[in-house]
Amino acid sequence: MVLLLGPARILQRTLGDNALATQTANQSAPSPDLPRIAIIATGGTIASAAPDKTQLADYKVSVSANDLVSAVPGLEELAQFEFEQVCNIESHEIDDEILLRLAASVQRFCDRDDIDGVVITHGTDTLEETAFFLHLTIDTIKPVVMVGAMRPATALSADGPLNLFHAVVVASNQASASRGVLVVMNDRIVSARHVTKGHANAVDAFVPTEFGYLGLVFGRWVQYQSRIDMPHTAFSDFKRGFTHDLAAVDIIYDHQGAKTHHYGASIKNVKGIVLAATGQGSLSPKASQGALMAKEVGVVVVRSSRVWQGVVRPSVKDEQFGTLAAYTLNPAKARVLLRLALQRTDSREQIQKWFAIY
Ligand code: ASP
Repeated sequence: MVLLLGPARILQRTLGDNALATQTANQSAPSPDLPRIAIIATGGTIASAAPDKTQLADYKVSVSANDLVSAVPGLEELAQFEFEQVCNIESHEIDDEILLRLAASVQRFCDRDDIDGVVITHGTDTLEETAFFLHLTIDTIKPVVMVGAMRPATALSADGPLNLFHAVVVASNQASASRGVLVVMNDRIVSARHVTKGHANAVDAFVPTEFGYLGLVFGRWVQYQSRIDMPHTAFSDFKRGFTHDLAAVDIIYDHQGAKTHHYGASIKNVKGIVLAATGQGSLSPKASQGALMAKEVGVVVVRSSRVWQGVVRPSVKDEQFGTLAAYTLNPAKARVLLRLALQRTDSREQIQKWFAIY
């Protein structure tokens, strides 16, 4: 693996390739006038290596936070860095314990007067879930930017280094303040509220549904063209909500010929269910029955859609089956909001109001 260079490589050797320990170290800090950026690393493809340059799957997470930065020429001219390695795993392995620890770490950095912005490196598979969770819970107006890569660090045309460079450019730019959590991939800046992974392999995997990109980043140049209206970060009802346990919520995918057994199992274990319903929130006969079973035992069911664009609005179905509507949140994000909402209330009315505005 040719990727790791310089003093960071020595640190990497000392710590071992899979060092999970939190490291706080100063990257060479040429000028104290440069913004101070915290890099919080969690793993993912951006931190992965394979033995072959054309191996684009089945690689291993093995690169640490400061080695990622050391491998990107020019970063030292943009900012001074501090590093924290929260974990070094694939994003589908992230559980509540890690998510809450990550959020607490982001908050700690944001609370520090000497930190100007935070960049989080993360696997792309569940990046949108973490991004939306942080967007609702981090109490800050400072830039918080998430970044990943679709190709491992060892690949031909790896996308990680430029994505990371762009993430630091965006996090260091004052125009990025008060915009909530941002995702920077493939030269685009997307709000955590709207971003979704729309392709399993391509480098332009991250798309903003019909709400559009917030802006562009190209080298050191950043331009925003829009801002989101929904509340987030310092203006969120759920800010600092990472300090409590999160309510258990399942996602059940509806389809032709669905049965009720998933509902039977789920309602014994959760406080909420998000239904990935069909079209604009239509439920198969057994999903409707499942929703009624859930309602009887006080489990809150939210209708989202299998379709990744458009809206599921409140309807007569909700009166019939005791469900709520997710509006424009996809199932994974509806689950994030429902977990935070159930931390605070059991009131269906209040939860529906939150789905209408978040
Ligand atoms: N498997 C990776 C993950 O951790 C995929 C990626 O990062 O692109 O999500």
